[in-house]
Amino acid sequence: MPPTLDPELRRALVARIRYYNEMGIYDFYRRPPSLASVALEQAPADFLEQTLDPGEEMSPRKSTATAVVEETILEPISLKPEQSVSDPVKALKIIREDLGDCTRCVLHKQGRKQIVFGVGNPEAELMFVGEGPGADEDEKGEPFVGRAGQLLNNMIKAMGIQREDVYIANIVKCRPPGNRQPERDECATCSPFLMRQIAVVRPKVIVALGATAAKTLLAMNSSMMQLRGRFYDFKPSGVRSNDSTWDGCKLAVTYHPAFLLRDPRQKGEAWKDLQMVMKELGLKPPKSNT
Ligand code: SF4
Repeated sequence: MPPTLDPELRRALVARIRYYNEMGIYDFYRRPPSLASVALEQAPADFLEQTLDPGEEMSPRKSTATAVVEETILEPISLKPEQSVSDPVKALKIIREDLGDCTRCVLHKQGRKQIVFGVGNPEAELMFVGEGPGADEDEKGEPFVGRAGQLLNNMIKAMGIQREDVYIANIVKCRPPGNRQPERDECATCSPFLMRQIAVVRPKVIVALGATAAKTLLAMNSSMMQLRGRFYDFKPSGVRSNDSTWDGCKLAVTYHPAFLLRDPRQKGEAWKDLQMVMKELGLKPPKSNT
């Protein structure tokens, strides 16, 4: 029989493992002294003072028990329900069902009409991630369908592909009131679902549109000027892909199309970012008819 773990200690272990998962760490190795240190706060004083006699080793029975405890804690955190299916369409459907009529952050009660999940090719090589839905997206239930969406479509066409070829999603899936920026806690609450979508789609390149998307995905607090102009190695945090051969992707940062509508002078800079992505994906701009 495995030992019964104190509920408080179990909660602490689960929180610690989740913290490591969110940083992209999944593999844990049993090392008895480390486990003892995790339990330090909860351990009674006489346990803390107890040491092994010189030459004494941990019995095989104790080691086995430790492994059982670790497995039962790790399993529910590491495995997501969509990981049991190989069809990406079904896997995305499972994530959408898991999201349900979400009330996990305050955006659910601030005037959203519907959740805007994501759209596009479930096996896309290229994925665009924006900040959050606006009024048009909230109305239609699809990301990037307003004026900024039209500009994004043009950007995609200029890369020699179609909107249907890519996958498009946002950091938060509900419209922030008055088109304000989503708060950090809203991004943190919603983005695990996006991470799961990314792990299912397994793109080769993600383009983060704007500072909120870039900062959330990269967990960096730099300016757009510092973030643009290079690729980052990216793995969705807190989740593993079904496909063990997919080891993450490249991530590039460019301006949000809504910003480009306000300041069209930056379109040239955005085009440089997209050209970098096209080179990575082997894309060529369509031939001009003129
Ligand atoms: S923004 Fe995301 S976490 Fe917040 S209520 Fe909507 S779906 Fe849920």
